[in-house]
Amino acid sequence: MPDLPQPALRIGYGWDSHEFKAGIPLKIGGITLPYDKGLGGHSDGDVLLHALTDALLGAIAAPDIGSLFPPSDPQWKGADSVVFLRTALERVAAAGYELVNVDSTLILAAPKIGSHAATIRKRVAELCGISADRVGIKAKTPEGIGTEGAAIAQATVLLAKKERASSSKHLPTKHKKQR
Ligand code: MG
Repeated sequence: MPDLPQPALRIGYGWDSHEFKAGIPLKIGGITLPYDKGLGGHSDGDVLLHALTDALLGAIAAPDIGSLFPPSDPQWKGADSVVFLRTALERVAAAGYELVNVDSTLILAAPKIGSHAATIRKRVAELCGISADRVGIKAKTPEGIGTEGAAIAQATVLLAKKERASSSKHLPTKHKKQR
């Protein structure tokens, strides 16, 4: 195949769900929420970070989270999902892209996310190395779809091709001189 130039922008989408289980911590977006149930799974069950990881991997057409971190591999048992997200971000950087923004939707009956959304947003932004005004966190209750026992997360990302150091570094200086 000919060596075609990489696109300037790439979009990625991820989806995940985990079942609520009693007596385990509830991790969503890299923070622990106060609740009597958590999300079961081989890792820490962080449904939002899993969807986000898959969105990043999908945007660069890399293998998905389940292929990179198979549940059959004991080393990922109870793993902090931040590890998965960091790997995806490293792959994005290695592919020559940077994250522009994230949007996400959580679908769960309880607990209410509203009062925690700002904290989740800040943490996700910090983990992604972008400002919080580039991270959307929305929450819905699962009306009529019968998924009350689970948490679902959907995430979308936009990536931009990294500019070469020579073309990007001097731009702000030029703008200042023009004033
Ligand atoms: Mg998962």
